[in-house]
Amino acid sequence: MNVKINKTKIVATWGPACEDENVMLEMIQAGVDVFRFNFSHGKHEKHLEGFQKVRKICDEHGLNIGILADLQGPKIRLGLVRDNLEVLETGSEIEITTENCLSTFKKIFISYENLALEAEPGDAILIDDGRVELKVLTTDRKSLLTARVVVGGKISNNKGVNLPDTKTKVPALTEKDRRDLDFALANGANWIALSFVRSPKDVEELKSIVGERNSYIKVMAKIEKPEALVEIDKIIEAADGIMIARGDLAVEVPQEKMPLIQKDIVKRCIRKAKPVVVATQMMDSMIESPNPTRAEITDVANAVIDGADAVMLSGESSMGKYPVRVIQIMEKILNNVESFDDLIYNKQLIPDKESASFLSDAICYNAARMSSELGARAIIGMTFSGYTGFLLSSYRPKAEVFIFTENKALLNALCICWGVRAFHYDRFVGTDTTIRDVVRILKERELVKEGDMIVNIGSMPLAARGRANMMKVTVVE
Ligand code: PEP
Repeated sequence: MNVKINKTKIVATWGPACEDENVMLEMIQAGVDVFRFNFSHGKHEKHLEGFQKVRKICDEHGLNIGILADLQGPKIRLGLVRDNLEVLETGSEIEITTENCLSTFKKIFISYENLALEAEPGDAILIDDGRVELKVLTTDRKSLLTARVVVGGKISNNKGVNLPDTKTKVPALTEKDRRDLDFALANGANWIALSFVRSPKDVEELKSIVGERNSYIKVMAKIEKPEALVEIDKIIEAADGIMIARGDLAVEVPQEKMPLIQKDIVKRCIRKAKPVVVATQMMDSMIESPNPTRAEITDVANAVIDGADAVMLSGESSMGKYPVRVIQIMEKILNNVESFDDLIYNKQLIPDKESASFLSDAICYNAARMSSELGARAIIGMTFSGYTGFLLSSYRPKAEVFIFTENKALLNALCICWGVRAFHYDRFVGTDTTIRDVVRILKERELVKEGDMIVNIGSMPLAARGRANMMKVTVVE
C-alpha cells in the first residue's frame, strides 16, 4: 500500500467525521501517523471501536500508527444554561455560584468548587475560549462571587472556563482521568496526554501510576497554563513529549505571546530530545471549507520550520467536512518545506559532557553528523527504551532514521518522532549478523538499495541491551 511519508508527523484527532474504517485508511495513506482520541468527548465504547480499527488497519497493512489518548484533565466548565442560550451584557454585574444551578444572564454556575476561596477581586474569568470575559468584584470565600462582564456575549451549555489569574489547587488527575487512563492502558494506547499541566510533579504523578502498571506508554505534557511556562524545562525533563496546546494556551496567556512561546518550547524540546507537537486551529477553516486560508498554510509551514516533530489536527479531522483532504493538503505543505535543504535539517546540538548519557549521546550526535558528511541514505539504530530513536530524531538528519526494536509497545509510540520509522526485530545474534539482517529487511522493503551508504549504531554486547556505544558505516550490497 502506498503511504505518504514525511519527516514531520501528522496527528489527527479521531471523531465522527473519520470513524469509518475506509476513511481512516485513506487518512493514513494521505500521511496520518498518529490518531488522537480526545477523552473530553465520547464514551469508552466509542473510543474502543476507534482503537480497534487503528490496530486492525495496522495488522492488515503492516503499518505502525500511534494511538494518543488525551485526558480531559481538570477542565472547569459552565453547567446547563437556560434554553441553552443566554446573553451576558457588557458592563453588567452578575453573580457566580459554585452550587449547581441553571445559568442565566444574571447568575451563572461554574463547576470549580474552590473558586470563591481561591479567586481574588480583579481576577479574570474567561468563558468559551475567552469569547466572554468577566472580572471578579467580590467573593464570599464560600460559594458566591460577583463579577463585572468586561466583554459580553452568548453562553451555552457546558462551555469551558479559564482562570488565567487564579492559582487553582485542582488535582492534576481527576477521577474521570483515572478511569480514562485505566481504559487507555488496558487497550494499548501508545501515548497518554495530560491536560493543564502546571508543574513537573503533575507529570511525575502520572508517570508513577504508569510505572506501577509496568506499562511502556509514553507521557505527553500539554502546555496550556501560564504556570507551566515558569517550569517549562523541568516539565520537558519529566515528560516523554510535549504538546503545545494552543487552544487553551492562547486563552490563558496574552494571545499575542503565543507565537514566540511556540518557538521557544519547540527549541527547548529539541535540545532535550523530547518530541513536540504543535496543536490546534492549524487548518481550522477546513472544518467547513475545502481549502485552508493562506494564514493557515503559513502557520503549518512555520511549525515545520520551527522544528516541530508533529503537527496536529483537532476538529478538522474529527468533525470537519474534509477529513481526508485536510491531511492531503497538510502533507503537501510539510513536503514542500522539507524539500528545502537548509531550513530544518542538521541541528548542531553538541552533547553535554555532564550528562549521564554522554557516551551514547556522542555516538548518536556523530552518527547524524557523519550521515550528513557522507551523504548517507540512512542511520539505523537499535533501542529498547526508545532513547536512541528520540535522540537521533532530535539531530534532524536528512538521512532516513530507521529504528529496530524488540519492544513492540515502542513501535507505534515512535510514530510521533520527527523522521523516525520503526521496525520490529528480536533476533539479536551478533553485531555483524544483526547489521546484515536489518539491512536485508530494509532492502526487501525497498527502503535502501545496493550502493547506499548506511551509518549503523548499536550497543555491544548486544545481549546487554545497553545504550548505543558503537558506530559502523556499511555500504548496501
Ligand atoms: C488545546 O487546548 O489546544 C488542546 C489541544 O486541548 P483540548 O482540545 O483538549 O482542549
